[in-house]
Amino acid sequence: MHLLRGAVRTYAWGSRTAIAEFVGAPSPTAHPEAELWFGAHPGDPAWLQTDDGERSLLDALREDPEGELGAAVRARFGDTLPFLVKVLAADEPLSLQAHPSTEQAIEGFAREDRLGIPVNAPDRNYRDRSHKPEIIVALSQFEALAGFRPAARSVELMQALGVTDLDPYINLLLGQRDEDGLRALFTTWITCPQPDLDVLVPAVLDGAIDYVRSGEREFAREAKTVLELGERYPGDAGVLASLLLNRLSLAPGEALYLPAGNLHAYLHGVGVEVMANSDNVLRGGLTPKHVDVPELLRVLDFTPAEDVLVTPETIRDGAEIVYPTPAPEFAVSVVNIDGDAVGHEIDAPIRHDGPQVLLCTEGAVTVHAKASAVDLARGAAAWVSADDGPIRLSAQEPTRLFRVTVGL
Ligand SMILES: [Zn+2]
Repeated sequence: MHLLRGAVRTYAWGSRTAIAEFVGAPSPTAHPEAELWFGAHPGDPAWLQTDDGERSLLDALREDPEGELGAAVRARFGDTLPFLVKVLAADEPLSLQAHPSTEQAIEGFAREDRLGIPVNAPDRNYRDRSHKPEIIVALSQFEALAGFRPAARSVELMQALGVTDLDPYINLLLGQRDEDGLRALFTTWITCPQPDLDVLVPAVLDGAIDYVRSGEREFAREAKTVLELGERYPGDAGVLASLLLNRLSLAPGEALYLPAGNLHAYLHGVGVEVMANSDNVLRGGLTPKHVDVPELLRVLDFTPAEDVLVTPETIRDGAEIVYPTPAPEFAVSVVNIDGDAVGHEIDAPIRHDGPQVLLCTEGAVTVHAKASAVDLARGAAAWVSADDGPIRLSAQEPTRLFRVTVGL
């Protein structure tokens, strides 16, 4: 078991304060820090802090896959860590995106190989053969768009904005209030010629301004999101797409799971994100990065998603909160040490053998494994190999510890 130093990713949509403050580094930072990666991704692995200095987790897995991952995980996923843990800090909206299913990723990867597109080319969609299910657990208030809203409700939103230019699209959806209608409308907008978008998007923004000024509350968040996106990405079809998506505000501890085909855009906030170790992203707008609309349309799931929040379950008398998802690559939980547990050493068993990534998000904790112990302050993480065996925890103050393992 070792302390694990995460790899900081600087993207324009990041924050100059959130990640630095989380890990106790000087703030504000020179560049916006968007993500802190704790994993063995070849693009940016995390670093084990050993007595002999720093060592990349990727190298450690290569040298001793059996000891680090354990036989069961190797048999299921090969000699790679199947998940990636990130602290994500968004000051500005991220791109409108979706991720493929495993079948779509295998097919897309082979197709782009046949076309001779280098795997690291900016216009490559499929960089590996994996699906990319992801869960985000909010650390702060977290704002997002995720999944299509039921069509009838989106009609109400568009009618409330009172924009005449939207009438043909409202009628389209009124004529087909189901996933086929949503597919038709989204496809119309996302493939709309730019001169038409340059008329329609500003008209919608005007409607949103009037709506917000009117003091109406029902769709106030949705209207403000339209304005925020429209200001940053003028004339972008993603602004219109936001009218069709669930607008979610997660309180700290609430979580959102994004299965294959779910159209989403994170808007603002800090969270712990866990995903299958894949780079397969199909973007539809709200980004300067590569956008591939036909490919996005191939993978999107237009089934209205009314309940996209993950319902946590408590285990071990409330000592651990589990966020159940169908993803085999990861299992996410939060160990809560408070009340009588503070000041005592407690067991923290996992349901099967395999590696663990631990991330302290509140308080401070000592992690005891078979042959070693590490102290984790807020913002610090540990790598517990399969060989390290079961862990015990002791905290002198109320503490929250994220734990990510391989799924069942
Ligand atoms: Zn995503």
